[in-house]
Amino acid sequence: MASIQILEINKLKVKFIIEGVSEVFANSLRRAMISMVPTLAVDFVDIYMNSGLMYDEVLAHRIGLIPLKTDLEKYNLKEKCTCSGEGCPSCQVSLRLNVEGPKTVYSGDLISDDPDTIPAFDNIPIVKLKEGQQLMLEATARLGFGTEHSKYQAVCGCGYKIIPEITIEDSCNNCGKCVEECPRDVFSSNNGTIEVTDIYSCSLCYLCVKVCEENAIQIDENTNRFLFSFEVDGSMTPLKVIKVALNQLKERFAEFTEKMEKLSVE
Ligand SMILES: [Zn+2]
Repeated sequence: MASIQILEINKLKVKFIIEGVSEVFANSLRRAMISMVPTLAVDFVDIYMNSGLMYDEVLAHRIGLIPLKTDLEKYNLKEKCTCSGEGCPSCQVSLRLNVEGPKTVYSGDLISDDPDTIPAFDNIPIVKLKEGQQLMLEATARLGFGTEHSKYQAVCGCGYKIIPEITIEDSCNNCGKCVEECPRDVFSSNNGTIEVTDIYSCSLCYLCVKVCEENAIQIDENTNRFLFSFEVDGSMTPLKVIKVALNQLKERFAEFTEKMEKLSVE
């Protein structure tokens, strides 16, 4: 039975242990979180007026990279929408910008047609305008996947590592060399007895095994326990990303199984 235990969580970061799964599954989950969770991002910008110093295309690129709060229940993928990809309020949202210098234009200056779909942070600088310079544009955002462009990727810095099982055998003479050698402070000496006190920090460097003259330290890597950690760009919560990724994997495997069953009938 697989289980998930959350160690740390806030709006933007999560650290959790997943247990009872293979490394193949852990890697599938990592890849699904990166590339199979759609998010909204600006894909098209109509620029009506730009008398600032920044080129239109650089400006459009910057606006495209601003993370937008994404409610996946509200929006359809454009290609799967009832409008057949033409663009409608169910698959796209407009954000307008109408500002005049002198001022620094921030993501918070974008005015969205949908009050729930706004930039995840309102303090991302876009451009600096001088006295009399004007910027007037309309940006259109749609859902997309990280495989298409990283602006559609909800997670950043997503990774996992194996949580090993470290056993200190009876032949240990408590010399303390492993405590000194370990760069991650996995071991500590408790009244002269060596103990494993921070298993989550172990990076499997095996320096403790090499330094131990009594061969008393055993490391087992095949534990089926993994420590995951990742951050999100603010478009949705870390828990939402995990749920959507797991559902995507489930749906794809169900589709694959269905196709395989049809094959065996024929
Ligand atoms: Zn549509």
